[in-house]
Amino acid sequence: MKLNNNYNNLEESYLFSTVAKKVSEFAQNNPDKKIIKLGIGDVTLPLCSAVINALHNAVNEMSSQDTFRGYGPEQGYDFLRNAIKHYYTNRNVDLDIDEIFISDGAKSDLGNILDLFDKDNVVLVPDPVYPVYVDTNIMAGRKVVFVDAKQDNKFLPMPDKSVKADIIYICSPNNPTGAVYNKLQLKTWVDYALSNNAIILFDAAYESFISDDDLPKSIFEVDGAKDCAIEFCSLSKTAGFTGTRCGYTIVPKSLGKLNKMWLRRQTTKFNGVPYIIQKGAEAVFSDEGLLEIRKNIDYYKANAKIISGTLEKCGIWHVGGKHSPYIWLKCPNNMSSWEFFDYLLNNIQVVGTPGAGFGNNGEGYFRLTSFGSKENTVEAMKRFESLFIK
Ligand code: PLP
Repeated sequence: MKLNNNYNNLEESYLFSTVAKKVSEFAQNNPDKKIIKLGIGDVTLPLCSAVINALHNAVNEMSSQDTFRGYGPEQGYDFLRNAIKHYYTNRNVDLDIDEIFISDGAKSDLGNILDLFDKDNVVLVPDPVYPVYVDTNIMAGRKVVFVDAKQDNKFLPMPDKSVKADIIYICSPNNPTGAVYNKLQLKTWVDYALSNNAIILFDAAYESFISDDDLPKSIFEVDGAKDCAIEFCSLSKTAGFTGTRCGYTIVPKSLGKLNKMWLRRQTTKFNGVPYIIQKGAEAVFSDEGLLEIRKNIDYYKANAKIISGTLEKCGIWHVGGKHSPYIWLKCPNNMSSWEFFDYLLNNIQVVGTPGAGFGNNGEGYFRLTSFGSKENTVEAMKRFESLFIK
């Protein structure tokens, strides 16, 4: 037996465990202080009633022999794939249902898709970004090169023609910076990928937070993308499915073998998302569901507005929050990400996420999320004002 030694090349991920450790130590030493967490990107609002009703109905179906379901199609039931197809038609993207694959969330598919690619591909990843892209490639022994996302390119790096990449990750709206590419910028990436015979792995987990109709929610809104991109999407942040688990991946048939290969991969290694969950997911795309989830997203976006309004008043440089649940701020007084974390925890008991955990370029930055309750967000921002406005 030989181990996969690529695992030795992974950097230990201390981010959320260190955050949790520091917070629990502080809480133990200061039991009278109320800590407000605006750190982890998990939702707090419950599932909407359209989803809950659909889940209940599906549970009832499982209790009767006539309507009971066993194994379903690995790539998802047609009722959900059709609902997603319709969701895309409304933004002028035409998909065949055979291009839509239902999953238990974007994280699994982002990792699993790598089964389709040879080890010797060069992988291009923006820095900072969602850490899963880097770690899944390191596990497979692939070479990762980084493209810098910085204040001077508005955290939206563009392709460097002198760099030859085979697999390109794009996350728009971005976690953690909240930056969103416009169509022209995405078209430049698509043209770059086409000229390099590369594939773009487009993570659209936060598409539903985009409020400007001119900004693309799907890479397939861009000409040529169906010849060079796979899109990953999730109901986690869109509809509060972080614990319920459902997402989908779009592998266009125009990518040639990749569509069939992904079908083969999924039918071999995956047995599908539970019928009950897929019924709940279908309800997200109903008229009622779409209205209800919009209300929840608006609630989070109102929190984001409260946060950015306060940061403005405090004179703290920040971006994001407009088309994303995340606000990305520059730590004041040249503090490092972790220094600022400690400073907030010790002085006002507000917890955020140190930007350094998302890549080297995240050092000196900090992420706050709008996924908390309105009350907690307002209270946290009052504390910011008391600390930063003298
Ligand atoms: N992609 C990005 C950019 C994320 O931030 C997250 C979760 O935080 C995911 C994917 C994972 O989504 P899911 O819950 O569908 O696995």
